[in-house]
Amino acid sequence: MAESAKADAARETGLLQKKLRLLMELRGAGIADPRVLGAIEKTPRERFVPAAFADRAYENVALPIDEGQTISQPYVVALMTEALLAGERHNVLEIGTGSGYQTAILARLARRVFSIERHRELLRAAERRLEGLGLHNVVCRLGDGAKGWPEQRPYDRVIVTAAAPQIPQALCDGLAPGGVLVVPVGAHHRDQQLLRIRRIDGGFSTEELAPVRFVPLIEGVPRALGTKVDTNRP
Ligand code: SAH
Repeated sequence: MAESAKADAARETGLLQKKLRLLMELRGAGIADPRVLGAIEKTPRERFVPAAFADRAYENVALPIDEGQTISQPYVVALMTEALLAGERHNVLEIGTGSGYQTAILARLARRVFSIERHRELLRAAERRLEGLGLHNVVCRLGDGAKGWPEQRPYDRVIVTAAAPQIPQALCDGLAPGGVLVVPVGAHHRDQQLLRIRRIDGGFSTEELAPVRFVPLIEGVPRALGTKVDTNRP
């Protein structure tokens, strides 16, 4: 075997061992759903992080991606996915595609995933990765996800992977009867709660799941030169 092929094989084995260790850690932390653990096992997180971090892809930590954003910590991805109770007949709306890692996990569990991201470059890179993994039940769109994706309403499941200052009403309204929304809520970085909201009996029920730390959900889409569109201005 050539030296570079040997190095590649050793790297693969190293990543696999780290992945198995991570899966044990997630089980130990209370993630019990075998479908969620199976989806994490099948999804190569090393493809979703910047190349410089590939060796750290199976550490249970959030890592930086482009545009000052982060790929969530594997435990948080597992917790949110488990909390979403997504099944193979469900249509899922995701706000905050980011690297596309959470999207890939959802695509393995649900019928269809609609994912919205406000950064064009992040969205394009995520689409390429999902395509490369043969996950064809995902549709991505550039936009402000806080407004939802009204054309595809209603959704069985909605997941938000950025912290909303308050419960986003447009997303609650987009839920089908019996639908579930999982969203981190909190105006301050250090004071966010992961909430699960269900549409039941013509109303909504809310549960607090865990304290979390997410990058903020931001209104509007950045302009090409990096200046933000101020949606509050007339
Ligand atoms: N699930 C992603 C997390 C990315 S971080 C992953 O694991 O990689 C959150 C993402 O939400 C960022 O990419 C950010 O650009 C995006 N975001 C923030 N506000 C948004 C909004 N209003 N609409 C759509 N995407 C938004």
